[in-house]
Amino acid sequence: MSRFLSDRFAALDAYVPGEQPVDMQYIKLNTNESPYPPAPGVIAALCENETQKLNLYPNPDGTRLLDKLADFYGVNRENVIIGNGSDELLAFAFLAYCDKTRGVVFPDITYGFYPVYAGLYGVAYEQIPLKDDFTIDPAEYFNAGKTVVIANPNAPTGAALPLRDIEAIVKNNRGCIVLIDEAYVDFGAASAIPLTHEYDNLVVTHTYSKSRSMAGARLAFAIGQAPIIEDLNKMKYSFNPYNVNRMTQLAGEAALEEDAYYQEMRSKIADTRTFTEGRLKEIGFSMTESSANFVFARYPGIGGYDLYYALKEKGILVRHFDKPRISDYLRITIGTKEQMEALIAAIEGII
Ligand code: PMP
Repeated sequence: MSRFLSDRFAALDAYVPGEQPVDMQYIKLNTNESPYPPAPGVIAALCENETQKLNLYPNPDGTRLLDKLADFYGVNRENVIIGNGSDELLAFAFLAYCDKTRGVVFPDITYGFYPVYAGLYGVAYEQIPLKDDFTIDPAEYFNAGKTVVIANPNAPTGAALPLRDIEAIVKNNRGCIVLIDEAYVDFGAASAIPLTHEYDNLVVTHTYSKSRSMAGARLAFAIGQAPIIEDLNKMKYSFNPYNVNRMTQLAGEAALEEDAYYQEMRSKIADTRTFTEGRLKEIGFSMTESSANFVFARYPGIGGYDLYYALKEKGILVRHFDKPRISDYLRITIGTKEQMEALIAAIEGII
């Protein structure tokens, strides 16, 4: 920290992303990426002549992509905004909907960026403990009097709430925004997007990073009623209007044409998750019920960090969180079947 940094940020703990090694010598199961490449049409689109146009700014709204997303999700153009990953859209939403008088509430165990945004903007946050089985009791979020943020499925637990519970939370917070972060929804949970037709206090974020194999492109979108999208655009146009570059916009459009490919990849990942859960249970692990592209598991008798470290020594990266209640657990991304077989073999060697 230099002596010039504003006092506002002296105590800010920044988000620490999972390791991204530059030499790909690891089996990488630590940041919930897809193990499969983008669809062939996405790669073809990028190889066309878009790079020739890099001298020109992109369309700031991403209008063509907005129209395609609107078609895909059964909403209108004015109900969609694109962002440079959902992290950016979450940043816009925290900026727009939280302040000194209106705080924010989320579970104690959830995506680690939420408290960081609150810290960045100087917003008070409340954390509601998950139940002992790491699930959410929806009633605890009713009439929160604050902006409500829920990842569904949750991270790092993978646990999903059914749509009726999400609707109950939205219904019982009509005076506040409810943000549902659906980064992992395509792997097996029900999306709240259809509820946006009915509720003007609901905003849903999705990302291309996981189920559309595009973490490296940085693309996400939020869907809500037009006034909400106007608010988020106000933030975007006050911060970085050209937030999604030309190539990423094009890749995002092409990906929507390739849904069959992505459905196939998702079902492969779901099968591999079932295989991995079965093998880990046989070895003696316990885990949460995951609807996402990762499992959250612990082995009795070996601390989470020790197992993380032993796996790293064997060339396998998984994620460990040194946090209360979950420090015994590992979050393990579902890779290819071969990668998961290598993981299981490595674990058997360690224990
Ligand atoms: N929300 C959740 C729950 C996540 O786990 C992640 C991935 N780190 C994100 C949002 C951000 O994803 P991205 O910025 O790649 O869209």
